[in-house]
Amino acid sequence: TYDYIVVGSGTAGNVIAARLAEDRKNDVLVLEAGISNEGVLGSQVPFFAPTLTPSTIYDWNYTYAPQPNLNGRVIPIARGRLLGGSSSVNYMVHHYGSSEDYDLLAKLTGDSGWSWSNMKRYIARHEKFVPPADGHNTTGQYIPSLHSTSGVLPKSLPGYSLPIDSRVIATTKELSSEFPFNQDTTSGNVLGLGWVQSSIGGGTRSSSATTYLAGVVGRRNVDVLLNAQVTKLVKTGAVGGKPSFRGVQFASGPQSSSTTVYARKEVIVSAGSIGTPQILQLSGIGDKADLAAKSITTHVHLPSVGKNLSDHVLLPNNWKVRGPSLDDFLRDPAAIDAALGQWQANKTGVLVHGITNHLGFFRFPKSAPIFKTIPDPATGPTASHWELIVSSYWLVPGVASPETGNYLTLIAALISPTSRGEVKLASNNPFDHPLIDPNLLSSNFDKYALREGVKSVRRFLSAKAWADYVVSPVNIAANPTDAEIDAYVRAFASTVFHPVGTSAMSPAKAGWGVVDPQLRVKGADGVRVVDASVWPFLPNAHTQAPTYLVAERAASLIRGY
Ligand code: FAD
Repeated sequence: TYDYIVVGSGTAGNVIAARLAEDRKNDVLVLEAGISNEGVLGSQVPFFAPTLTPSTIYDWNYTYAPQPNLNGRVIPIARGRLLGGSSSVNYMVHHYGSSEDYDLLAKLTGDSGWSWSNMKRYIARHEKFVPPADGHNTTGQYIPSLHSTSGVLPKSLPGYSLPIDSRVIATTKELSSEFPFNQDTTSGNVLGLGWVQSSIGGGTRSSSATTYLAGVVGRRNVDVLLNAQVTKLVKTGAVGGKPSFRGVQFASGPQSSSTTVYARKEVIVSAGSIGTPQILQLSGIGDKADLAAKSITTHVHLPSVGKNLSDHVLLPNNWKVRGPSLDDFLRDPAAIDAALGQWQANKTGVLVHGITNHLGFFRFPKSAPIFKTIPDPATGPTASHWELIVSSYWLVPGVASPETGNYLTLIAALISPTSRGEVKLASNNPFDHPLIDPNLLSSNFDKYALREGVKSVRRFLSAKAWADYVVSPVNIAANPTDAEIDAYVRAFASTVFHPVGTSAMSPAKAGWGVVDPQLRVKGADGVRVVDASVWPFLPNAHTQAPTYLVAERAASLIRGY
């Protein structure tokens, strides 16, 4: 028996475990299905991030159901399966989103504690801004006064400069009305293009395992069990007419026997946007009809569990370029070896590069024709519809790099999707993957947004800065028609790996949603959900930092500080 049991040692789970264990009166058990992050080189070297998923032992190796709007393609939806969860395998882009995301969350839930003005205090606790690996002068690349140097997680500006960096910045000057420079996209104002901030410190990845968990591991009041896959929460009685779920059953595999442990105070489920709704449903918390169809007894009829799944759609746009780019480096094992030697010696060089040095967020004008037929889905008037990510090599998830040539990739990502899908049990066997169907690009707005994104990245490259560099687009005509763009999108779009919404937060009395604004599972006692799944909608951000902030606030709600 422990005071608290945390299910999943992921991005959010480790924040909860660490913050609860800071109070030495609490004893905490963390149950993680995966393996340790220790000694996993790919999880330390930033440039190796894309090698960690999909189809590896560090990944749950889920796929999305065939997507009708993507030519029926089945695409991987990577999720980290090791200490740190997805923070140990992600691409390390680290920013919080629009202030309007948090203000909308406060409004939707009726809890002003989620507002941007309140959540800023958790940024201060969370981040520890450190100099970039190459020690370059960062003046003008961020706004230091907005940042904390005393939090838990080291983060930094890019530590390896690229030949294209100056072209990107020149474009923000030449085409400043469409692509203005934003000195700090983590300020709450996301609009414009700026220098990326990453969960990288001293040239090495910062995950929730290397930071939060590492800070408390070894204490007598924290136990972490690996290879412990939670198979369900166990009902332990009732409080105030609500069933309590203070038991947690786990096993190391389908053939192993299971063990049940109990929490004196609470169980916190932090298994992520796919794992969490699966565990809730296996525990009899979900839609009664769906559960009955899988021969599961319903303890709490909560139809929203697993529903409302949404994800950012990623569309790579590739150009053949005259070079230089990182493609030649990627094809040269000797150069990679030498770079690894440098990284091991002093944590500098090309291997401290993530996937990008620049990204930006943009919105369509109020007068855009699409808004005549549908309401603007952005989270607010200064929030974005799409994102541009600049990569100096061929970066197409799931499509191998060509054997020759230099490339530039401009990713257009859909930030304010209106499509929604769901995570549903495929069977009542906890070791079967659930059915995960985000229903990507099923709305007119979503299709419109990527179509316009493709046009916009072309305008980006029309700046003089690119004239002697860019040669021609790949896999699409130089001046495509709308129909050709739509076909390109169907053939090449995939995911930014940002699923949210499957255990959505809502007001305590609302007829929708899974958890109340304090993240307690509705209709149940003794169990909370704390992870990306509680976001009812996607923030204007890559989702790790918004997940960290949710977890920091959840910890303070649980501990009452
Ligand atoms: P996770 O961090 O995934 O944690 C869930 C944990 O629970 C895992 O450790 C898992 O193994 C464990 N678990 C699940 N089920 C069980 C079970 N039944 N029993 C026990 N343990 C279980 N975001 C960014 O901000 N920037 C990026 O650059 C970025 N790039 C990404 C690239 C990739 C390839 C991926 C996969 C994600 C990326 N993301 C990025 C998204 C971001 O990492 C996630 O949104 C975030 O980490 C989710 O945190 P979480 O706590 O909800 O879940």
